[in-house]
Amino acid sequence: MQVTVAKLAGFCFGVNRAVTTVEELVNKGQKVCTLGPIIHNKQLVSALEKQGVRTVEKPEDVKPDEVLVIRSHGVPKAVEERAEQCCSKVYNATCPFVAKIHGIVAEASRSGRTVLIAGDPEHSEVLGIRGHCEGPSFVFSTEEELVKLLKNNQMQENSAVTMVAQTTFHAELWVKCQKTFKKVCTNGIIFDTICNATSHRQLEAAKLAEQSDVMIVVGGRHSSNTKKLKEVCSALCKRTYLVETKDELCCEMYRGASTVGIVAGASTPAGIIKEVQQTMTENTNSVADNAAISDDMSFEEALEASLSTLNNDQKVKGTVLSVNAQEIKVDIGRKYTGIVKAEEYSYDPNVNLEEAVHVGDVLDLIIMRTNDQEGTIMLSKRRFDSIAGWDKIVEAKENNEIIEGKVTEIVKGGVVATYEGMRVFIPASQATLTRAESLEDLKGTTASFRIIEIGRGHRAIGSIRSVLQEQKKALQDKFWETVEEGKTYTGVVKSLTNYGAFVDLGGVDGMIHISELSWVRVKHPSEVVNVGDTVEVYVKGIDTEKRKISLGYKKAEDNPWEILKAKYPVGTVCKVTIISMTSYGAFARIIPGIDGLIHISQIANRRIEKPQDVLSIGEEVDAQIINIDFDAKRVSLSIRALLPEEDETAAPVEESTEAPAEEATEAPAEEAAE
Ligand code: SF4
Repeated sequence: MQVTVAKLAGFCFGVNRAVTTVEELVNKGQKVCTLGPIIHNKQLVSALEKQGVRTVEKPEDVKPDEVLVIRSHGVPKAVEERAEQCCSKVYNATCPFVAKIHGIVAEASRSGRTVLIAGDPEHSEVLGIRGHCEGPSFVFSTEEELVKLLKNNQMQENSAVTMVAQTTFHAELWVKCQKTFKKVCTNGIIFDTICNATSHRQLEAAKLAEQSDVMIVVGGRHSSNTKKLKEVCSALCKRTYLVETKDELCCEMYRGASTVGIVAGASTPAGIIKEVQQTMTENTNSVADNAAISDDMSFEEALEASLSTLNNDQKVKGTVLSVNAQEIKVDIGRKYTGIVKAEEYSYDPNVNLEEAVHVGDVLDLIIMRTNDQEGTIMLSKRRFDSIAGWDKIVEAKENNEIIEGKVTEIVKGGVVATYEGMRVFIPASQATLTRAESLEDLKGTTASFRIIEIGRGHRAIGSIRSVLQEQKKALQDKFWETVEEGKTYTGVVKSLTNYGAFVDLGGVDGMIHISELSWVRVKHPSEVVNVGDTVEVYVKGIDTEKRKISLGYKKAEDNPWEILKAKYPVGTVCKVTIISMTSYGAFARIIPGIDGLIHISQIANRRIEKPQDVLSIGEEVDAQIINIDFDAKRVSLSIRALLPEEDETAAPVEESTEAPAEEATEAPAEEAAE
């Protein structure tokens, strides 16, 4: 015969908490009273009695030297208040899940809502819940009773209704009642207050009952959840028996059975379950355990293990089941559904869950809290990362290490970067190389920084500037080691002044004098370059002592005299533009940077008084280059050379084609090009 013990057999969290409270007080030498039996298990109650624990019916029965423990079922509010008045010391061991229902119904009735409670009207938990209602409340234990309540209009028509359930109410029946309630009460609110400790036990019991020839339910006959377990098992396995202890077992119960399942109520001590199991083992000598109780793990240890699996702050691995913009659902290998909210995934508020996470990914997570009623576990990845990340932060600080993190926020006084899941604050004074730089530009970038300070509460302060300064120094050293005259660099124009442009060559600044910017005369550097432009420059001069670099920008191939030499030999006819006129002639632009003189005698094929008689500023005319003096940088042009000699009365052409020396020095051609 194979005997299988349910994994969830025995004390639930709330009962364990209450019993432990009593035992600890006894061990401390306190005289203890409980308000009603501490649990619905007379064997344990009687064992406690032997240690001096008294059961009293009301607070007034407690003696002055005794402390009172309120059991896990809870009591009405009025009783709690009387206990505080009558007793020297009160330990309220009401299960937190029950206390939560107290809060729900109190709040609902204060808001004028009628309260409906699914449960046993005589059960102390239900009496306690009703005792926290401050307005009308009704109890039903079957679907028919609920329908009757709703139809008979015992509640005011259209009144707002809130419905809760006794924590140990039958799970399937509760689902049906909710459907019925929703059909009638359109403005009703349902709080699913069935305790998962109960529903999970019932589910497991049902599964085991389906597979077993015989089911043994161990627990007190007055225990609500034990009775529910018997109901669940009986529906699926005809040979279901309820026993309070091993003494009630008899061979007839499991004669001829090949599979026997053992389940136990939430108030059944582990020792009693163990005794039942051992007795059956001795009788059949062929017990198979369901891994909850193994040779090397006692039931108490197994129970402890099952509770500890849900401890907060525990690290777990979760496999992603689904992901949307708000949350990730993960499987952490337990019955509960694991949920990671977007804000618990990362410190980066801009993270896109659907891009960052995919179904099947395995995440390292930490448990934040469990919700037994909803069957969920809230998990955090960012907190897991923080724990691991803090160690790395401390290490980075100790080693003066440069680390990388994404700048996620601009905050008052600086920016926040994330590193290994940790937030690192970088003050504005440490965020950029110079104060003039914008913090906004940093947002979303990956920055290199050092940890310069760590404090309590996992606070870390970083510095980007220290890294930038170091990088700049390294670049400068490398530059000065390799720089030489004539070497070309690509730089970025950093600033402009009236006398030139400063160019960042990569950690070192050089200056292009305004005269070096262009072959053509310019009034301001902005006519050639602008801040932010990338420019090709060459080193013209180096002052190693003062660490100053003068740069050249204009290129030899752009020299207009070279262009003239190559493309405009003497005799060339070209289109020129009149740019100024004097008494002895007109100056005309041949190409940018080269202006030539058309002497008055070369303007027309007849005698003229002044150039203005024939030409005007801005006019384009054809002219021939008749002389070039590269040394003096002078060009002579002639329009007359292109005209027929028609006018015989024209004055003889003067031999000189150049302007008088004293006037020619002011000619634009000489100013424009060197
Ligand atoms: S069954 Fe649930 S609600 Fe009841 S005492 Fe146990 S843990 Fe608390």
